[in-house]
Amino acid sequence: MDNIEGLNYNYSDKLAVKDIVFTPEKGVKLKDGLFKKVFDNNVEFLKTLSLDSMLFWFKRRAGKPAAGEPYRGHFEDNIKGQTAGMYLMGAGNALRWYSDDQLQSTVEMIVDCIEECSEPDGYIMAVPKRTFPTKEYPHYVRIWLNYGLIAAGLSGNSKAYGILRKWQDWFNNCGELPIIKYLELAFQGIVASTSVYTTPVGVWSDIEIARKYYEEDWRLAQFIAKEKDAVHIRKQPGYEPHAHGTELESFEGYLDLYRVTGNYYYLNAVMGAYELYKRDWQHPGGGIVMCEFLDAYPGCYWISPKKPYNELCCTSFWMHLNQRLHRLYPDEEEYVSEIEKSIYNIAIANQDGSKGIRYFAHLEQQKPKSGNITCCCGVGTRIYGSLPEYLYSVSPDSLYVNIYAASEINWQREKEMVTVTTETDMPYDNSVRISLSLCAPQEFAIKLRVPSWISEKIEIKINGDMMVEGIPGTYHTLKRLWKDGDTIEFKLPMSFRYKKYTGAEQINGFSRYSFGYGPLLYAVKGDLNYNQSIYLKCKPENVSNWALPLEKPLSYAIKGNDGYEFVPYFEISNDTFTCFPLFEKI
Ligand SMILES: [Zn+2]
Repeated sequence: MDNIEGLNYNYSDKLAVKDIVFTPEKGVKLKDGLFKKVFDNNVEFLKTLSLDSMLFWFKRRAGKPAAGEPYRGHFEDNIKGQTAGMYLMGAGNALRWYSDDQLQSTVEMIVDCIEECSEPDGYIMAVPKRTFPTKEYPHYVRIWLNYGLIAAGLSGNSKAYGILRKWQDWFNNCGELPIIKYLELAFQGIVASTSVYTTPVGVWSDIEIARKYYEEDWRLAQFIAKEKDAVHIRKQPGYEPHAHGTELESFEGYLDLYRVTGNYYYLNAVMGAYELYKRDWQHPGGGIVMCEFLDAYPGCYWISPKKPYNELCCTSFWMHLNQRLHRLYPDEEEYVSEIEKSIYNIAIANQDGSKGIRYFAHLEQQKPKSGNITCCCGVGTRIYGSLPEYLYSVSPDSLYVNIYAASEINWQREKEMVTVTTETDMPYDNSVRISLSLCAPQEFAIKLRVPSWISEKIEIKINGDMMVEGIPGTYHTLKRLWKDGDTIEFKLPMSFRYKKYTGAEQINGFSRYSFGYGPLLYAVKGDLNYNQSIYLKCKPENVSNWALPLEKPLSYAIKGNDGYEFVPYFEISNDTFTCFPLFEKI
């Protein structure tokens, strides 16, 4: 736990539109609590993966002896080499905050193998060059290798950035560029290039190539105009890339292009897409309904598991789009609120202990079985390994406390370090105590997020007495000369909310409602009826009366409905449940 160096300010010089705050790259430590448990589960999950299987196709392509067997199924048969990228994303990010010899040495072995199997011109893929301009190789697989090498570089691996630069140079000059934007889900590839640009080894041609070969001007114009059908219908020549909620990842790339160039059409398209997704495609709890292949349309809000929706990939891209918006507009509480509910209700909800990671966050009947090498495992392990970075953000003069979890940040300021410790057992207990440790008094602002899910003003105590009021949905600024031992204390009162379901999966004779408590989506756990759902003999608006606290924190019995429990959705494992219980039709 000796990662106390500073935070990355370097990339600012490369941006036409500067980030106002920065995401910590190091220096945040999780303490006992839900987030640490999720982080630790992820480390255990990574240790179940087979090094031989991950490296099999890299060695085979390079003509070297490959031990063991490759992973089988779509994700390594059609997307070879993705699992090595996935491991680097999970482990490299985790190692930014925490030391672990086994993870560290496995990261080294993977990076070494990728280098030993690479071609002299920098090509590193696990498939022959002829296969590169097919399927998802230039996009999905390239993103994962790039993200993996960036994470390995951030964790201190000395070779990763060099390999990344050579590889990106190969891509920027390869003869396959004219076709790549017509391949499977090609829109995702733009972020593989823009994300390299903001690393220490990024160069301007990374941006030029991304703009020239990935940018879909007609698509951006659709989102600028906020066309109602833009999200689920694409009308490019040919079939690919097909409509998919993973197009959110392209908006991460387009927002990067706004930051890099300052051209407003990128920002306007991103904000148009953002508005459409929030208006027509977001489930209670934050999940993204738009997925692929089936008959999705604005406002369909699928519930039953036979429909694909709430894919963890889409939530991951939604989170990272919101994270970029937060860096640009840090005083807008909305962006962190989106990240927070995505973490609790989709990311944590999809972690199956240390066994695996679920693909969809289905909101009724039963959660799906988890996997170990799917796309959603990749984005999941990256989120869990990066959890500390979502809690705080910093600028030279301000520390933003975004999401409250037991943790400590070592904030390296120009002159000296400030250590800020957050003590809380959120979401199980809503008290928060923040304390400061610094050698000599320093002036700066602490910006406390007062979440929008709180229904009234909160009282914030400084050093036990001085009281100020925090308004929900804002950041409360405490600017002063801070000294060693100063404390800030407050509570984040949580209460139940309910919302009528308006989507396509209505059941005759009933009304359906979902429930939230603080940032948490709630589920009714118990046997399903003939509708494959659960009927409650009570009224949704009386939730505060019929939810009777049980001994276990956050768990409730339901008055007049024996055999059912009301619990956070993220805690559901194998039980049958619904997040949209049925009530008598009003
Ligand atoms: Zn996925």
